[in-house]
Amino acid sequence: MRLWENYIRNVEPYVPGEQPHGEKIIKLNTNENPYPPAPGVLKALKEMNWEEFRKYPDPSANLLVDALADYYGLGKDQIFVGVGSDDVLGMAFLTFFNSGKPILFPDVTYSFYPVWAGLFGIPYETPVLDEEFGIRIQDYKRENGGIVIANPNAPTGLCLPLEQVEELVRANEDVVVIVDEAYIDFGGESARSLIGRYENLLVVQTFSKSRSMAGMRIGYAMGSPKLITALNHVKYSYNSYTMNQPSIILGTEALKDKEYFKSRVEAIVNTRERAKRRFGELGFSCTDSYTNFLFVTHEHIPAKELFEALRREQIYVRYFGAPRLKDYLRVTIGTEEDMEAMYHFLESY
Ligand SMILES: *Cc1c(COP(=O)(O)O)cnc(C)c1O
Repeated sequence: MRLWENYIRNVEPYVPGEQPHGEKIIKLNTNENPYPPAPGVLKALKEMNWEEFRKYPDPSANLLVDALADYYGLGKDQIFVGVGSDDVLGMAFLTFFNSGKPILFPDVTYSFYPVWAGLFGIPYETPVLDEEFGIRIQDYKRENGGIVIANPNAPTGLCLPLEQVEELVRANEDVVVIVDEAYIDFGGESARSLIGRYENLLVVQTFSKSRSMAGMRIGYAMGSPKLITALNHVKYSYNSYTMNQPSIILGTEALKDKEYFKSRVEAIVNTRERAKRRFGELGFSCTDSYTNFLFVTHEHIPAKELFEALRREQIYVRYFGAPRLKDYLRVTIGTEEDMEAMYHFLESY
């Protein structure tokens, strides 16, 4: 073994869900939106000029930042954009969690948090969720180097009410609190309304789920100008051109069609509420999800067995297998037809 091999950064990478290909596949494993993006997005894509590819993109992604500021009634200096919310979250870890004290996030949550902490050498502690998978905010009222929670949480689907998020932020005004709202459009109340009052609060959202644009990689953060400036300084110290020009243009386009957005989110929420009942009839129990997925467990059949049986039928759901999650499956809400095909198989199984 050569010496250089000792100096390779040793990291435990995040494992994304499978991306199987094929005609008959029913894909309910990575929380993608089953519907197309807004019609205006596809139109703008077709009309895109090659000039958009030849030149470097606008490093400040002004068009999209402006559109988001307008959309939410915020200032441009309160918005940061990145290559999916993963990029935004990673950048936020790098920017804000430098005290050397452990940051806090729940034991069951988005499994990328411990990966970024590992990559950047940030110590962390993981307060356990209660028996019903709820976040106990009293666990976050102790000395720490920062806090990150997903709200609604993944893979549980549960949501903290806004008052509790505020209580958590108020109890931690000496550190940055990140609220990852990847699923907020499907239920629950955004903490965005609090950013004017708490300079330490960063709210992160994405176009990947509710806007059907996971493939375009668009995420954003909303927070005080101090936080946004700090994020931009770190971004410009690493890669000025994180957002490609088509993403900037198409993301901006997506925000214009509020009607379409509302109707697609409604369709998914309706399918989800029906899915809660159907799973119940099939002997499953599920958490009260506010997202575009359900976290389900069957009264008799082990989750792993069901995962494998579904997979043989080309129906892909997510199985984590971690100690606290081994009895559960996470099932993305698809179209009514996809869901019917799944219920049909589960019934016969
Ligand atoms: C999907 C997801 C993300 C990342 O989404 P991007 O596609 O990178 O925007 C972040 N946090 C949670 C909790 C998610 O489920």
